[in-house]
Formats: sequence, C-alpha cells, structure tokens
Amino acid sequence: MSDLSIRALSKAFGGVHAVREVSFVIERGEFLAMIGPNGAGKSTCFNMINGQLAPDSGEILFENRNIAGLRPREIWRLGIGRTFQVAATFHSMTVVENVQMALISHAGETYHLWRPAAELHRAHALDLLQQVGMRDAADKPSRVLAYGDVKRVELAIALANEPRLLLMDEPTAGMAPRERNELIALVKRLVVERGISVLFTEHSMDVVFAFADRIIVLARGRLIADGTAAAIRDNPKVQEVYFGTGKTFAAKASP
Ligand code: ADP
Ligand code: MG
Repeated sequence: MSDLSIRALSKAFGGVHAVREVSFVIERGEFLAMIGPNGAGKSTCFNMINGQLAPDSGEILFENRNIAGLRPREIWRLGIGRTFQVAATFHSMTVVENVQMALISHAGETYHLWRPAAELHRAHALDLLQQVGMRDAADKPSRVLAYGDVKRVELAIALANEPRLLLMDEPTAGMAPRERNELIALVKRLVVERGISVLFTEHSMDVVFAFADRIIVLARGRLIADGTAAAIRDNPKVQEVYFGTGKTFAAKASP
C-alpha cells in the first residue's frame, strides 16, 4: 500500500513554475530521497505536502485522502510529521521539557496542565531522548546544546508525535559529513523500527546513495527520474542535470 501518492502537483510563483506536474508515490515504510539542483522545486514540494503552501493543481493522497490545501496543523494531526523546526520556545526550556511539550501536544492535553505537572510524560520523554542518544543532556537548558545535538532533540520531538510519514527537507544542513552520516543512520534506524515512511532531501550524494531505498530527481520543477540508487546513478538525464551544473556525483559527494 502506498502511503502517499502525489499526482500532477503544480505550483507557480508569479511566472516561476516551481513545481510542474510532479507525480510520485511513497510506499509504506519507504526511505525515499528527493534530489535535484538548487531551485529544482524540492522545498516547494515539501511545503505543499506539509500544508505550508496550497498547490495550484494536483492531488496529494495520504492514505487515500486528498490533503492538498489542508492547513499544516490538520496535516500534522493526520500523521505527517516533519523535522527539523525548532519552536520559538525551544531555547527557553530544558531538553526533556521540549520533548515533554511535544508529548503533551500529541496527547491533546491542554497547556494549563503543564505547569503543575513537571513529571507529565517525563519517563516517555527520557526514553525518546535515550533513543536519540541525548539522555544525558535531558536536564540541560536547550540553548547550550551543540548544533548536531539540537538536531537529535528535534528528531525526538518529531517522533513524540508518532508520525506515519516524516518529511525532512535538508535535515543535515550545516553539518559536517560525518555528523550527516550519523544523523541519517540514526533516523533510518528509528523509522525502520517504527514502520515510518520518510521523504527527505540531502545534498551529500554519499548519504543519499548509502541510505535511500529509492531516489526521485527534480530539475526545474519537473520530475526527471525515479528509481534505485544504481538506476539513478546511470540515468543519462540525471547525469546531464548534474554535469550541467558543473558537478558530477563524485564531486558533489565530497564535502
Ligand atoms: P529547492 O528546494 O529545490 O532548492 P525551491 O522549491 O525552494 O527549490 O524553489 C523552486 C523555485 O521556486 C526557485 O526558482 C525559487 O526561486 C522559486 N520560489 C520558491 N519559493 C518561492 C516564493 N515564496 N516566492 C517566489 N519564488 C519562490
Ligand atoms: Mg530547498
């Protein structure tokens, strides 16, 4: 069963056709990479799926329901989560409080319960932090965390919402190559355990080829290829797009 089925999705900004008639599916439990040069339309696709942008036309079927044009909060409630977005309050709370807040929100509990109940969901939150390797930092103020550690806490927060599909637009932006590999390896392990489907973008081709179950390629708003790593690597249209920007996969793969 496919989790998400995108059909002829289009979005223009003035005269710029950011996404043109894009169609693809994400199968249940799949780890799907979307790649393409800057400006290809990747973020626009993500933002239509998560509800930040309404498509001009096309369908986004999530578990057979068309979610195109729904609000972000409705889409999130249906089970589509996303990383990595730090809430405005993130830096004012401890690490574990941030995860507790996500659990409280997911449970639909109201905010006023929070204040007298510092223990609310604490054990569950600590367990999630353990899973992302951040248990020891639980009671630290979030603002003191290193960049890569913030990403791990954000992952725990995303998992607190128990998504069935997780959207990650450039989750490793700003990270060193080794950290990128570690974060994506961690994400993959945790989502496979839970049967969560993932759509992600990533600039490092090393990471994409190492972890993606399948790869789709956008160029100038159009989907130009959809296949396994080996098929994508050998696809002449894909090579043209990357040679056209002066970069081969080998060149892109190095930091
Ligand atoms: P990618 O994420 O693949 O780099 P984007 O989806 O961000 O690409 O952008 C696709 C195209 O749409 C680009 O030409 C970009 O300049 C344009 N674009 C994206 N968002 C907006 C916007 N809010 N207003 C105008 N143009 C936009
Ligand atoms: Mg982008």
